[in-house]
Amino acid sequence: MKVFKFGGTSIGTAERMKNLIPLIGKNDNAIVVLSAMSGTTDRLVKLSSLLYNEEKNEASSLLNQMQDQYLEVIADLYLEESIISQANDLINSHFEYLRSFTLDMFTLLEEKAVLAQGELISTALFQLLCKEKGLNSCLLPALNFMRIDENEEPDTSYIQRNISKELHAHKGYNIYITQGFICRNAFGEIYNLKRGGSDYTATLIGAAINAEEIQIWTDIDGIHNNDPRFVKNTFPIDELNFDEAAELAYFGAKILHPTCILPAKNMKIPVRLLNTLNPEAQGTIVSDQLKTNTTIKAIAGKDGIIAINIRSDRMLLAYGFLRVIFEVFERYRTPIDMITTSEVAVSLTIDNQQYLSEIISELQEFGSVAVEDNLSIVCIVGNISPENQGYAFRIFESIKDIPIRMISYGGSKNNISILVKTELKSETLNSLNKGLF
Ligand code: ADP
Ligand code: ASP
Ligand code: MG
Repeated sequence: MKVFKFGGTSIGTAERMKNLIPLIGKNDNAIVVLSAMSGTTDRLVKLSSLLYNEEKNEASSLLNQMQDQYLEVIADLYLEESIISQANDLINSHFEYLRSFTLDMFTLLEEKAVLAQGELISTALFQLLCKEKGLNSCLLPALNFMRIDENEEPDTSYIQRNISKELHAHKGYNIYITQGFICRNAFGEIYNLKRGGSDYTATLIGAAINAEEIQIWTDIDGIHNNDPRFVKNTFPIDELNFDEAAELAYFGAKILHPTCILPAKNMKIPVRLLNTLNPEAQGTIVSDQLKTNTTIKAIAGKDGIIAINIRSDRMLLAYGFLRVIFEVFERYRTPIDMITTSEVAVSLTIDNQQYLSEIISELQEFGSVAVEDNLSIVCIVGNISPENQGYAFRIFESIKDIPIRMISYGGSKNNISILVKTELKSETLNSLNKGLF
């Protein structure tokens, strides 16, 4: 079985949805994971913030606008009257449900339910299209099998058990359509896998059913060597190993959800990145079977980084110092991305500032603490083992005019990370591009 995931832009218009039919129609055993239509989740986020602020009129007019646009999509999407009328009823009932949130207090769990509507709508509309086009397809509700645990990590054994149950209950179809992004939490409430999470749904499903391949279809022909939003003339990379792709995703390559490579890596399932706007393009294959092994493959940048420096004479020649520091971050469930140490100081970075003030006040018990925000990690990924001499020189030569706040090398042989001010990220990505490719 293969898993196909189509992102928001791939189903952004009626035309684009129709273009997917020949792409998936050839398959006789596939799970299709869909995001919300492009723009929908952003608008549902906006709607939630209006509802938190009790701006009910603005919320209602946003809902009216969205509903009208969906009704226009329906008019372009289907030919059969009975399908059009089913689709209209479907949209009207989802928007009636969304309007019910304008009546009362708005909470976090209600926000999750609001955000889930994008994927619930897109999959239902797409299933009706498949039906009209004669594909032997059915909907598999992700809320029946996709679940996270108390630590907000995917509950893989639950997912595996329950997706098998669902597939068993819906035997005999060629195409199973399901929602990306949405899931339930440990208490059974509607939740999600964070922004961009449909990629993660696809790889979690791929791992749960031991898929032959996971294909992530988006609006660009594979993973590029640099971030095309900041750098001109980037080019697609033919192949990456799982660790390289995981590092790129984690360090900001938006084409992949930060942690979506891990389930595929664990099960050694190849992930192919393909372009719905150019389906003939070769794209990128992520696997453990690389044909070539070039040194430096790609660069990515991740914003929203905070650096924390702890300075203490007590660290000099002391053991156990790093442990007590790490324990503070563990208590506040805040992952550390980069770390460097000297005899009397340690600098580290985090990207989640939810508990920043608590963390700082606990760290102050061990020494003086300095915090700097508005930073970005720029990460250079490839086969960067120490035996491949010369690349470090090329990296630092290319950014010799850019002030570097921290450097991390040696943790993995796939990556060198550099911390810079966010205002210098674009310049850093471009200078590295010139120097390395
Ligand atoms: P989808 O809606 O299909 O999930 P995304 O917008 O999440 O699509 O991801 C695709 C976008 O990721 C591309 O349009 C591109 O702008 C951006 N991107 C950032 N870094 C990279 C990269 N290294 N390679 C390819 N695309 C990248
Ligand atoms: N619709 C969600 C988002 O916009 C999930 C996804 O697109 O992957 O973040
Ligand atoms: Mg995405």
